[in-house]
Amino acid sequence: MTGPFVEWGAFGVAATFLFGLLVGSFVNVLVHRLPRGESIVSPGSHCPACGAPVRAYDNVPVLSWLLLGGRCRDCRAPIALRYPMLELANGVLWALVFLRARNRAELATGLFLVSACLALLAIDAEFQLLPDRITLTGIAVGLGLSLLPGSRGLVAAALGAALGGGGLWLVAYLYERITGQEGMGLGDVKMLAMIGAFLGPAGVLVTLLLGSVSGSVVGLALIAARRGDRRMRLPFGVFLAIGAVAAFFFGDVLIDRYRSVWLSRSGS
Ligand SMILES: [Zn+2]
Repeated sequence: MTGPFVEWGAFGVAATFLFGLLVGSFVNVLVHRLPRGESIVSPGSHCPACGAPVRAYDNVPVLSWLLLGGRCRDCRAPIALRYPMLELANGVLWALVFLRARNRAELATGLFLVSACLALLAIDAEFQLLPDRITLTGIAVGLGLSLLPGSRGLVAAALGAALGGGGLWLVAYLYERITGQEGMGLGDVKMLAMIGAFLGPAGVLVTLLLGSVSGSVVGLALIAARRGDRRMRLPFGVFLAIGAVAAFFFGDVLIDRYRSVWLSRSGS
C-alpha cells in the first residue's frame, strides 16, 4: 500500500503536507474566483466583505484563520470555515498521495488529481457548477502526465478520457431522451473525462462505483433526516470527486480483489 517515497521519512511527509497546505490556499482562490468570473492571478487576496487586502502574515494556511478567530482583521466579518478546511484537506491528501505513490508519474498524477477534485467538489457543492478552466485543463494535464515514464501511458489515458466522457454523455443523452428532463450537465461529462485521463478506463469504472455508493449513502441519509426528497438534485460532481480520490487510493486493491474472486470462481 505504501510506495518508495516512504524512504524520505517524516521529513518528506511533513514537507509535502506543508506544500499541500499552500496549494490548498490556491484551491480556495479557485473556488472563490472561478464561479464569479474573476482573474485567478490578480489582484491579491482581499476580504469579500470589506475589500481590505489580506496581509501576508494573515495569509498563512489554517493558522491565520485560527489566530483571527475565523474573522477578517479589518471588519470582523466571518471568514467561511471552508478556507481552513480545504487547506487542511489538501495538505492531508497530498501527504497520503506522497506515501502511496509508486513512482514520480503517479506522485504528480495524484497530487494534481486530488487538488482538482477538491476544487471541483467545493465549487459544485456551492454553485452547482464545474468550471471548464479546471476540467478541460485537467484533461490536458492528465494526458500530458501519461507520457512520463512509469505512468499508464497515453493510450490508457486517452481511453479513460473517452470512456469517462463518452460513457457519461451517452447516459445523459439517453436519460434526457427517455424522461424529457435534464439529468446531468456537460460539466459532469467533462469532469469524468478528466478523471479518466488521470486514472485510465478501470479508474473510471471504480470512480463511478465508489461515487454512486457515496452519493446513495448521502442521499438516503438526507431523506432519512427529512432534509430532502427523492427528486432533490444532488451535485453529482461532489460524488465524482469523492469517487475519484477513493479510486486513486483503493482502485488497484479493489480491481485485484475482483479479479482474484472472479478467477477463483471460474477456476473451480
Ligand atoms: Zn473585511
